Amino acid sequence: MSRFFSKKYAELTPYTPGEQPKDMQYIKLNTNESPYAPPKEVVEAVCSEAEKCRLYSDPTCFELVEKASEIYKVKPSQILPTNGSDEILNFAFMAFCDKDTPAVFPDITYGFYSVFAKLNGVNYKTIPLEEDFSIDYRKYIGAKATVFIANPNAPTGLALSKAEVEEIIKGNPNNVVVIDEAYVDFGGESVVSLIDKYDNLLVTQTFSKSRSLAGARLGFGFACEKLIADLNTVKYSTNPYNVNRMTMTAGRMALCRQDYFDEKCKEICEAREFTAQSLRGLGFFVLPSKTNFLFISSPAISGATLYEKLKARGILVRHFNSERIVNFNRVTIGTKEQMQVFLRAVQEILEEKK
Ligand code: PMP
Repeated sequence: MSRFFSKKYAELTPYTPGEQPKDMQYIKLNTNESPYAPPKEVVEAVCSEAEKCRLYSDPTCFELVEKASEIYKVKPSQILPTNGSDEILNFAFMAFCDKDTPAVFPDITYGFYSVFAKLNGVNYKTIPLEEDFSIDYRKYIGAKATVFIANPNAPTGLALSKAEVEEIIKGNPNNVVVIDEAYVDFGGESVVSLIDKYDNLLVTQTFSKSRSLAGARLGFGFACEKLIADLNTVKYSTNPYNVNRMTMTAGRMALCRQDYFDEKCKEICEAREFTAQSLRGLGFFVLPSKTNFLFISSPAISGATLYEKLKARGILVRHFNSERIVNFNRVTIGTKEQMQVFLRAVQEILEEKK
């Protein structure tokens, strides 16, 4: 830390992104990216848009928002595109939390929530997941705080039903409820359709997982016009051009190829079920996932050892050091072929241990 670093950030521990080692070619099952490239229309449109980079991007993201409005069946004024969904989540902490309004979220969830809270000087409390890692929605009723729920949750992969999420929204009429639907396209139930009914609901989604655009950085917030207007106040006070030209084009073209992504999501879900079943056959505990990853542990090997041994074989998975889940690994679902390589490696590692 330099002697110039602001005291307000001195205690901040930044979020640790999934590792991206360069020493060899890994099978990357550690950051929940899609194993599939975006369709060629997306790539071609991005290349031709690059020629216009001399000019600033459209701060209103007009064409992207128009297309999204058609696909998600909401008004353009109810959508805010951002630089990844991380940005809309940060905007939500900035816009809807302060010293009188803390944040609340589960103890095991997306690690960025606590980082954003600290970055913005917001107090937060956490509610422990149940013994089986599920979220008991009743514990979020009357929270007197801005609620942040990843649905499906990460890294567990478990989901609340739409009816349960609606109870949380209804149960906090005087606080904003943020539902982070980063993984919803792999089997969850979206609550985007409820934004007309509840003025306290903000739904966030991302193009990083089901739409193969993690590197482009594109996310959306969906909410009533007033919440979007608040978020726009924050956006225009930080970076009006938060979505660059190429990304805006990539996002719009991706929305034109919904058929392609539906097919890829189906393939990923099939590979997930095949992998889950095979792991259970090998004695693993596997949570039933509604996402593009599995959260797994084995009585035969510690989470850290499995992570290390897979890495030595060129396969990266995500291991978390926090106490309650130290024996688990989160495994992104790749192609069926990648999952077969992963399963063979797991089997070899278990046999070596015997
Ligand atoms: N929410 C959850 C639950 C996530 O796991 C992630 C991905 N790390 C994000 C939001 C942010 O994704 P992005 O910024 O790539 O849209």
